[in-house]
Amino acid sequence: MGRAFVYVILGGGVAAGYAADEFVKRGVLRGQLCIISEEHVAPYERPALSKGYLLPEAPARLPSFHCCVGTSGERLTPEWYKEHGIELILGTRVQSADVKRKTLLTAKGETISYKYLIVATGSRAMKLEEFGLKGSDASNVCYLRDLADAERLVNVLQSCDGRNAIVIGGGYIGMECAAALVINKLNVTMVFPEVRLLSRLFTPKIARYYEDFYQSKGVKFIKGTAAASFDFSSDGQVTAVNLRDGSKVPADMVLVGVGARPNTSLFEGQLTMEKGGIKVDGKMQSNNSSVYAVGDVAALPVKFFGEIRRLEHVDAARKSARHAVAAIMEPRKTGQLDYLPFFYSRVFTLSWQFYGDNAGEAVHFGEFSGTTFGAYWVDNSRLVGSFLEGGSKEEFDAIAQVTRLKPFIKDLGELERQGLEFALSF
Ligand code: FAD
Ligand code: NDP
Repeated sequence: MGRAFVYVILGGGVAAGYAADEFVKRGVLRGQLCIISEEHVAPYERPALSKGYLLPEAPARLPSFHCCVGTSGERLTPEWYKEHGIELILGTRVQSADVKRKTLLTAKGETISYKYLIVATGSRAMKLEEFGLKGSDASNVCYLRDLADAERLVNVLQSCDGRNAIVIGGGYIGMECAAALVINKLNVTMVFPEVRLLSRLFTPKIARYYEDFYQSKGVKFIKGTAAASFDFSSDGQVTAVNLRDGSKVPADMVLVGVGARPNTSLFEGQLTMEKGGIKVDGKMQSNNSSVYAVGDVAALPVKFFGEIRRLEHVDAARKSARHAVAAIMEPRKTGQLDYLPFFYSRVFTLSWQFYGDNAGEAVHFGEFSGTTFGAYWVDNSRLVGSFLEGGSKEEFDAIAQVTRLKPFIKDLGELERQGLEFALSF
């Protein structure tokens, strides 16, 4: 059996939701578009899973965070898709793709053909087994990638008797989930191999601020080592984490955030890959002219960096998705995406934004003993990156704007002295 659509979006995450919105804005006709997703719900704002979803009081629940509420856009509920004649094929995994024949085969045995395909399959959470550990399937070990994981995490944390939670990983998931677990009154220990939190982005000075803040909330850190094995109870629950340094940490639950891998396997050997993703041009088009890739799986030319990069962040998913749709529906009017990399996070009462690239020398500014501080990165005498914690909308907009302009910086001392005023003066 089979069905045919003009446009197929493979994957039902953030990029899919924003692409659907853009298709409707550009006049897609009823019956032309379908979204195939392994998840059982319509596209939603994934960042909510590690923030509002985990709150003990008034937690965020669907339908409140369907796309595109994250950018104050219309909330695309399942009814919205129906109203616009968009077929949502949910709970359906695509198990193979044939880009020559322009077909997808679902695990339910249906063949779906397309004229244009947008690949938006996102990433999967890396499992501890990939690092040589066993125990991911224990009932008190959690990951967080999709709604099902978030539901499970809430159940585990609510029924966690001893209240000792070990967070493995000091990246985004580790930081955001550790904060959520503390808010849920668990005793949290974070274990990670690096010397500081979010070491790929944070400077030592920035990391120290967040580490002090976390410690003031009761979080303990075990840095510079990694989990080596688990101890299990007779009913298969993890009871302790054994670390590579030989120590043992008792655990009533474990949350793992040790990185993500893009879901590209359906297209390996069929599309050109780069940096672990599907290589696309500035219109999000792959080497096969009918196939576009967006979001976490896309390796796109980022003009700002002057090279191809993959970006595993929500703003890139939203913007690359909209751009792909524009390029498909109005190819002549659509140029190359000129994307300014943007990441953000919110934990406890804190909130930061980062724009650009953290290359070169970091120049810190503001009150690290207070609530508003930040850093600029200067590379080859150009300001190329900006970080700000605790800014107002106007201040965040200002650092975005100044970073996009990459101004010439003559004197790092003067930049440090001016601090946020430098961005606000542009
Ligand atoms: P996803 O949103 O991951 O969607 C991929 C979809 O494809 C899923 O529905 C999946 O089930 C489906 N799929 C995959 N393979 C198949 C298949 N074979 N068949 C059918 N369906 C398939 N970024 C930020 O910038 N700020 C944040 O605060 C932030 N918070 C985050 C919090 C969490 C918990 C997570 C996991 C990520 C967060 N991110 C954040 C990252 C951001 O959410 C991702 O970069 C973004 O979701 C990528 O969008 P995407 O559409 O490419 O992939
Ligand atoms: P990250 O890559 O951010 O962090 C993984 C962390 O785990 C790194 O600090 C890594 O160290 C560490 N690690 C690796 N192996 C081990 C190990 N064996 N034991 C302990 N720690 C280990 O991935 P996350 O899992 O945090 O996030 C998954 C995805 O979700 C990413 O795409 C991320 O961008 C996205 N996300 C983004 C958010 C945001 O932008 N606010 C929020 C939540 C998720 P090392 O660097 O040395 O490998």
